[in-house]
Amino acid sequence: MALIVQKYGGTSVGSTERIAQVAERVAGYLARGHQVAVVVSAMSGETNRLVAMGHELGGPAASRREMDVLTSSGEQVTVALLSIALLQRGVAAKSFLADQIALHTDGAHGRARIERIDTEALRSEIAAGVVPVIAGFQGVNDLGEITTLGRGGSDTSAVALAAALEADECEICTDVEGVYTTDPRIVDGARRLQQITFEEMLELASLGSKVLHPRSVEFAGRYRVPLRVMSTFVDGPGTLITLENDTMEQAEVSGIAHAVDEAKITVSGVPDLPGIASKILGPVGAKNIEVDMIVQNTGVDGMTDFTFTVKRPEYEATMALLHDVANEIGAREVTGDNTIAKVSIVGVGMRSHAGVATKVFDRLALENINIQMISTSEIKISVVIAERYVELAVRALHDAFELDLEPS
Ligand code: ADP
Ligand code: ASP
Ligand code: MG
Repeated sequence: MALIVQKYGGTSVGSTERIAQVAERVAGYLARGHQVAVVVSAMSGETNRLVAMGHELGGPAASRREMDVLTSSGEQVTVALLSIALLQRGVAAKSFLADQIALHTDGAHGRARIERIDTEALRSEIAAGVVPVIAGFQGVNDLGEITTLGRGGSDTSAVALAAALEADECEICTDVEGVYTTDPRIVDGARRLQQITFEEMLELASLGSKVLHPRSVEFAGRYRVPLRVMSTFVDGPGTLITLENDTMEQAEVSGIAHAVDEAKITVSGVPDLPGIASKILGPVGAKNIEVDMIVQNTGVDGMTDFTFTVKRPEYEATMALLHDVANEIGAREVTGDNTIAKVSIVGVGMRSHAGVATKVFDRLALENINIQMISTSEIKISVVIAERYVELAVRALHDAFELDLEPS
């Protein structure tokens, strides 16, 4: 008998009708002899609505703790509704909030990390034939306070539970039929991948593909949890996240990710001296603002320019901070742009194919898209461009690498 942890995202539990359909799907698995534990997100749009209300009244600056109490409430609603729907169908089910299963995290409100889960209670419920319906996205810290795992974090709740319960598979059930070569809402010809390696999926997720929360992929890789992304409403095999990609002919590029919530800041006319990067980025790091790409120009006449990117919600705070820093180090000016986007191509095949970067640059040039920054690693190439070109760039690169075709 296989134990499967299933996670249903916001759209899948977006109405009572859909919740009833999810209950039917779960019942189908039980009828086929499986054991199931379910993790759910808040109804679609609900977390945004809660966040917006909190912001209206001054959160999160006023209190990250209270923002977590607020935003975690969305999942409390859906665990109860799905449990009711299951009970109505004659399935023994019971809802659980994070503190009821001791899903412990660190204390970082709004982006907490899972540390341990008490599976004893869950195991005995499952053994007794009960389907536990667990609130995703939330945890408790050592003080017993509610924490949340960051937007999209229910995926991570599910994978962590699957690891702790030593489940046979973790299914991420969502509104698309798997992981595609790029966001199928942007490119009509995006193709579902039968499988993708953890390494590539982690890059795609970290670089903006919303389909999986980056930390869920990290967890699955570390604890060897078989992880599958599939549709809640359309039957099909979905996409398996695998350790090795040996069965397929390796394409140059496996997928394209994009992120529009980016901003860039340039400090110009900086004295080109040792320690300058630390003087500029030190105060940013001290405020817990995450810096992504960093570029320092070659110095000319003892002066240089320094550019880096941050997440867009951190833009104003970083600009304010940098004005003080610029005064201190005697830089000429600080300029910024919060209308940029990052487009990235990812593939383990890049290791063995030359000319991938050239193909990216040539195609973007052909489309007349200016590249503002570039960053590469062994299996990815990211470019920063103006936000208004992001869909054009994704479509053009999808075409350039013929991602709509099965690799031969
Ligand atoms: P859920 O609410 O179920 O967690 P999300 O909205 O978080 O769903 O994630 C699913 C969405 O991710 C899809 O609707 C799709 O628009 C988007 N997405 C982005 N990149 C990809 C990709 N490479 N493959 C599939 N979906 C993607
Ligand atoms: N409800 C949370 C969010 O919207 C968590 C999730 O859906 O995974 O971010
Ligand atoms: Mg999600």
